[in-house]
Amino acid sequence: MARIVVLGASGFLGSHLCDELIARGDEVVGIDDLSSSTGVNLKALESEPRFTFLKGDIAEGIPVRGTVDAVLNFASPASPPRYLNMPIQTLRTGSRGTDNALQFALENNARFIMASTSEVYGDPTISPQVETYWGNVNSIGERSCYDEAKRYAEALCMAYWREYQANIGIVRIFNTYGPRLDPTDGRVVSNFVCQALQGQNLTVYGDGSQTRSFCYVDDEIRGILALLDSNERGPINIGNPVEFTMLELAELVLELTGSQSQLVYEALPADDPLQRCPDITLARQLLKWEPTVELREGLRHTIEWFQKTL
Ligand code: UDP
Repeated sequence: MARIVVLGASGFLGSHLCDELIARGDEVVGIDDLSSSTGVNLKALESEPRFTFLKGDIAEGIPVRGTVDAVLNFASPASPPRYLNMPIQTLRTGSRGTDNALQFALENNARFIMASTSEVYGDPTISPQVETYWGNVNSIGERSCYDEAKRYAEALCMAYWREYQANIGIVRIFNTYGPRLDPTDGRVVSNFVCQALQGQNLTVYGDGSQTRSFCYVDDEIRGILALLDSNERGPINIGNPVEFTMLELAELVLELTGSQSQLVYEALPADDPLQRCPDITLARQLLKWEPTVELREGLRHTIEWFQKTL
């Protein structure tokens, strides 16, 4: 049994990680400032004796006593509308917060997992994106608060490793979906599914030809835990390499929900990447990981969950 700190514990990925760690027998301390989630995702863990929740902002420090074996840094607003709404807090969480978390991990001799993102590749000029690609990011654009916070966090991890031999692992997470996606956070899967279920028009931004590669949350969590349990430093892409246009996604959501909703076209947000697809050769080789859930199947589970939740 390990004692593991999950930062951003009440978020989409954070809460699924807490569940999995508890299920496999670990002790978990979850921390979240509840600025972009409500705590509802952790309800089922309230009565779990191996789980503790602490409300706190990691940019202010890590309020955990006693020794820990690992720190998972999943604290950050993650959907574009959310981080565009709180750009300074996003930068502060990724920079000061990550620095505090790395310092805390180092003092504990703990393994540190950094939730990085495909956004470090910006609007990529190569596809699929391999980990050695440096990216194409607008450092002063609207999305830079998120992209540069994550790039800085990766740089910090590497600096802690180079200077102190910190035990770090960086995972670059590609678009992930599944139960517990926040219906109000404005991401494409939650928007399309909620719109279809509520008989509203599906809002396609731009002409809908931009692509994303969607990874079902169970696959993503399994990949992250494989990195945690390894000695790999990364960065390692964890995502599903099957690419879809937003129009294809919209059609699939309409088909699976049986909705009569129409598509409406709205302006493409600034710096919205045209394509995104992970090269997962490294994850396959080093972690023996690959996704197993196809979009159609994952969307079925997600739609079922939204039907119950809405
Ligand atoms: N998008 C869309 N309709 C929506 C929300 C998003 O067409 O209601 C598009 C968005 O412009 C982007 C893609 O879907 O091209 C994925 O957006 P999301 O916010 O889910 O994540 P991103 O990959 O941009 O971080």
